[in-house]
Amino acid sequence: MKNYDWIIIGGGITGSALAYELSKKKFSVLLLEKDAIANNATLYSYGGLAYWSGTTDETRQLGAEGIELHRHLSEELDGDTEFRELDLLLTINQEDNPQEIAQDYDRFAITPQLLDIKQACELEPLLNPDAIAGALRLPHGQIDPQKTTQAYQVAFRRHGGVIKYESVIDLIRQGDTIQGVITKQNTYQSANTVVAAGGLTRSLLQGRGISVKTYFTHAQLIKTAPVDFELKTIVMPAVQQRFALEATASDLESRSAWEQPEPTIVKSILDPGVVQFRDRSLCIGQISAIATEPKTNFDLALAESQIRHQIAPILPKISEIPGTCHHCLVAFSDRGIADVGAVESLRGLYLFTGFTSTLVFAPAIAKRFANQTIENL
Ligand SMILES: Cc1cc2nc3c(=O)[nH]c(=O)nc-3n(C[C@H](O)[C@H](O)[C@H](O)COP(=O)(O)OP(=O)(O)OC[C@H]3O[C@@H](n4cnc5c(N)ncnc54)[C@H](O)[C@@H]3O)c2cc1C
Repeated sequence: MKNYDWIIIGGGITGSALAYELSKKKFSVLLLEKDAIANNATLYSYGGLAYWSGTTDETRQLGAEGIELHRHLSEELDGDTEFRELDLLLTINQEDNPQEIAQDYDRFAITPQLLDIKQACELEPLLNPDAIAGALRLPHGQIDPQKTTQAYQVAFRRHGGVIKYESVIDLIRQGDTIQGVITKQNTYQSANTVVAAGGLTRSLLQGRGISVKTYFTHAQLIKTAPVDFELKTIVMPAVQQRFALEATASDLESRSAWEQPEPTIVKSILDPGVVQFRDRSLCIGQISAIATEPKTNFDLALAESQIRHQIAPILPKISEIPGTCHHCLVAFSDRGIADVGAVESLRGLYLFTGFTSTLVFAPAIAKRFANQTIENL
């Protein structure tokens, strides 16, 4: 049986970027993905590259590395990631004070330009001037996350990487060393195993008796077919409730709620926003909820009407576009910008998940991870 240098569990953007970077360094790598047709956070993502969002020297450097990487990624992978640079427009609610909201953004690597209502509507004519007190403008980037993931996978295969569509159900464990994985069909051995299984990382490891502090939200969003008009920007709210929701994860941790058989459900939040992709299709979102059971069912018809109701005052035209509401899990960490590195007290097992601003940080960290691995040899 072949013994791989690395097995990566999860073929979303994080696992695919890491598999590619390791294969580029001539390691033998097996990427295991459970779904032959993607149905994950990467597929439903806005694709935004928040390279401005670093708040420390380290994350500012990573933001700069990330956007530079994306500027050349299509060429490097020989596959179109649909990268483009465009403005992010953060709408300020009527009841909020624009100057105070702008001050909250002073901590970021790039600070926004504060626009009054007229300037905001000149930049994004679909905005309803009666619904906002102004907006913040930031330089942003966008990729098509699914096409980028596919481009990573094609380039990975070109470097000799192997992709198999099999669900990992167990780890091969010898004492405190992980020596590979077991899928429904096969057993695969490896010197190193990385879990990049997004929102399912926690349950996969918990089921094997390995406790990690990686969390997930349940996201709900509407995807549309291509439309006959063009958005000039990515529109999101300046005050996002998602971050406050994520902060409740550690409260649940302290009550051991993530380990309980009975799921705990925390109230959902809705951050109204919209992005358009190069084919002119839209993604309108987004509801985020914390429920400790990954398989929790959400009423997607209700979610769709709630999203439409909240987007209607800000972007009336968008709220009427027909579309389909989807659900996915989005991993996050409350310990810095990601859960990356060796799993404590085990040899041969690593995490690569839970990223903040995943699309800009994860590709850059994947490159660093592969470089570091070579240096450590
Ligand atoms: C509406 C929305 C908008 C977003 N907008 C942005 C944005 O603008 N910018 C940004 O940076 N981020 C954004 N995000 C977040 C970002 O999309 C995610 O953080 C990112 O896609 C996560 O990638 P991933 O590889 O970690 O997880 P996923 O894409 O979920 O991939 C994990 C993969 O692991 C596989 N897997 C799980 N368990 C197993 C197993 N046992 N065996 C084999 N395979 C397994 C799954 O099938 C899945 O394909 C957004 C997310 C959503 C939902």
